[in-house]
Amino acid sequence: MSFDDGVQATNCDATKCKYSAVKMGYWQDDFIQYFVTGYERKTPEINRGYYARTKGVAMFMDKFLKKTGSNCQIINLGAGFDTLYWRLKNSGITVNNYIEIDFASVTSKKCFLIKKNKILLQTISQQAIRSMTNTNMSGHREPPGIPVSQIFSEGEVKIIGSDLHAPDYHIIGTDLRNLTELDKKLTQCGINFDVPTMFLTECVLVYMEPESSSMLLHWIAKKFNDIFFINYEQVNMNDNFGRIMLDNLRNRGCQLAGVDACLSSQTQMDSRFVRVGWDSARSWNMINVYEYLPEEDRYRMERLEMLDELELLQQLLQHYCITIAWKGITMADVDHL
Ligand code: SAM
Repeated sequence: MSFDDGVQATNCDATKCKYSAVKMGYWQDDFIQYFVTGYERKTPEINRGYYARTKGVAMFMDKFLKKTGSNCQIINLGAGFDTLYWRLKNSGITVNNYIEIDFASVTSKKCFLIKKNKILLQTISQQAIRSMTNTNMSGHREPPGIPVSQIFSEGEVKIIGSDLHAPDYHIIGTDLRNLTELDKKLTQCGINFDVPTMFLTECVLVYMEPESSSMLLHWIAKKFNDIFFINYEQVNMNDNFGRIMLDNLRNRGCQLAGVDACLSSQTQMDSRFVRVGWDSARSWNMINVYEYLPEEDRYRMERLEMLDELELLQQLLQHYCITIAWKGITMADVDHL
């Protein structure tokens, strides 16, 4: 198994963990079930960790959506089988353009699952029909050399090989280390470099070599004028617990190539973002995020399952963080939100 295969397999893990927490009632996601086969009940610590991750990311995303009034774009890097696009739609939120990027081997599986699922497809199609009346889509043409058997089309949803295009939703298969292709494919999605754009990475940058993630973040900061970034990933990886986490991953054929950037919240802000052209950044470990989540829902969630090992949960939370970064005007006063 190559290093990239190991990284791609982390998507299955994340999807199974999310499904476990959803099935236990931690949060609602009507769509994750379509991306998993089989159910594996995870420990209460893992379920709570995923709860904090999902709610924490949603909390920062809401701040961005409030500021932009949905006149914005969302780009989910290393999206795997994430269901945020459908969850937003389900709660009545539509953004100008929602784009997901992952390795082609991952996106082709996602496209396949979408293609054979009416509910997933309908949500995209319905939106497609509505937004076709006021969107000038960039007219996707089949790239030469793609066999007809690999082209699927229903309404305005078009799946070509490992890519999906609809008026407000795109999935593209590319390696985030290949910036030339990334640029080309984003243009095919009708990206607008001047519209406020939110980037999301959940456990993605850490799998990239530090030079590659720096080049990616630098490229984004140079290319887009008004941007907000939410990054969730491992932190404090230089203590005993962090080393055990690294060993576990290594045993599953996976390495955290970008571990240097995960040493502390300070390195998250400085090395990851500010050094490569972002205006500013802030970072919290998940213990702080957990405590900051709305009390009422936390109270409900903490009653779902008995937690014997509070210390283990705290250790886990301490080894993940959310970092936000921004450049441009929309989120410039983020400190006062
Ligand atoms: N963000 C998703 C979530 O939270 O469910 C998936 C997380 S999974 C741990 C990491 C994802 O990042 C995988 O789907 C993997 O394929 C993707 N990834 C890592 N490095 C990548 C790269 N260089 N190019 C494209 N995708 C990458």
